[in-house]
Amino acid sequence: MRRRRNVKIVATLGPASSTPEMIRTLFETGADVFRINMSHTNHDRLREFVRMIRTVERDLERPVGILADLQGPKLRLGEMTDGAVMLETGGRIRLDLDPTPGTQSRLPLPHREILSVLRPGHRLLLDDGKLRLKVEDAGEGWAETRIEFGGRISGRKGVNVPDALLPIAALSAKDRADLDAALEAGADWIALSFVQRPEDVAETRKIVGGRAGILSKIEKPQALDQLDRIIELSDALMVARGDLGVELPVEQVPTRQKQITRAARKAGKPVVVATQMLESMITSPMPTRAEVSDVATAIYEGADAVMLSAESASGQFPLEAVATMDRIAQSVERDTYYRSIIDAQRIEPEATTPDAIMHACREVAHTIRAACIVTWTASGSTALRAARERPGMPIIALTPSQATGRKLAIAWGLHCVVTEDAHDFEDMTDRACRFAFREGFAQPGQRIVVSAGVPLGTPGATNLLRVAFVGKAPPATLG
Ligand code: PGA
Ligand code: MN
Repeated sequence: MRRRRNVKIVATLGPASSTPEMIRTLFETGADVFRINMSHTNHDRLREFVRMIRTVERDLERPVGILADLQGPKLRLGEMTDGAVMLETGGRIRLDLDPTPGTQSRLPLPHREILSVLRPGHRLLLDDGKLRLKVEDAGEGWAETRIEFGGRISGRKGVNVPDALLPIAALSAKDRADLDAALEAGADWIALSFVQRPEDVAETRKIVGGRAGILSKIEKPQALDQLDRIIELSDALMVARGDLGVELPVEQVPTRQKQITRAARKAGKPVVVATQMLESMITSPMPTRAEVSDVATAIYEGADAVMLSAESASGQFPLEAVATMDRIAQSVERDTYYRSIIDAQRIEPEATTPDAIMHACREVAHTIRAACIVTWTASGSTALRAARERPGMPIIALTPSQATGRKLAIAWGLHCVVTEDAHDFEDMTDRACRFAFREGFAQPGQRIVVSAGVPLGTPGATNLLRVAFVGKAPPATLG
């Protein structure tokens, strides 16, 4: 089973996508990575999701990525009576620490640290800024506010406080427990929310200890000030436009999206564009034209992945949302503008042997119109350097490591196959040809470009490029 696009699709799981059949169909429709949002998922559910995803992976014999998204020091309201409460514009509402579900006259805000810094005049933005409260009076553990923009608010929605500096750590106690559970369950990626400083990433990296990749969500203005250092310490990035657009003036989001996407691509780290990509599809089987255009923009920018949040987690049309993204991606990537835009943004190789080889692979593959590039990769780093080249043909990453295959599911253009290491030079080209054929990327008589490292199986040793012919009828049987 192969995708007809380079960009990957990350689909968040939730109540609308919680059965084995649904997860399987989402994958078949186009989801490459499943995101488990720890803000809304308990540990039993997390393990259940992982079990279901791994079953799909086994049944379909394709590596699937799992991204566990830690809530981070995200401020959220508590629960609401009957799930949601209506706030009338112009009215008043009190916020306090009492965990009793919220009503039309008071809401639970279980964060002493915010309530202790709130002063009259501070704004509180609820649910990605859809509702706005202004503090009129505040004391220890409570605040009285005016409802500037009202609306329906359900439980556990986010709260942003753009006017106050909040003394909060990178990982809360909940995050630490969730991180342990996610690593234990076997998540491939850990998403860190509200990264503010490079130290936040470094601290998490110590705990994770190589058991998963670390994806830093850029959603705080503070992170943009030290973006390069944060990228250096991270394995992947997310343009988390939901909170970013609340913390910053919303008109700055498109520029920041370009800045983050380019910086991540330059570093060769996967970058995911997230939030409200097909928002209207939560309740409609058809997206708006503006949403289609937004998804297309991220793809033209060469993002590694586009993400669905509530569209796939709790919306009415999860499958249609994934199918829509898949169709937009195929349509954009077939367009000649796509190639010319991607080529215009080409990034120079760094002065390393793997980069030189991957750059050469791209050149050779283009010159001889190779059907695909096949790269043998142990840790996945060579495959990511191949993806960094953004070549005009598919890249197959052959890896002996299941963990690598799963992790690479998030990266642009990589089709991963888990297979044992090449035994010798002949086996290296022979199996590259046979996989290219079997996976549907090359026909007999076509040429492919193969890269590997000698001595074979040594991580980070990529130093070899080989052009190979796919034979007349390659045997379909493979280990
Ligand atoms: P969230 O992150 O959905 O966990 O808030 C994404 C975003 O803020 O855009
Ligand atoms: Mn967020």
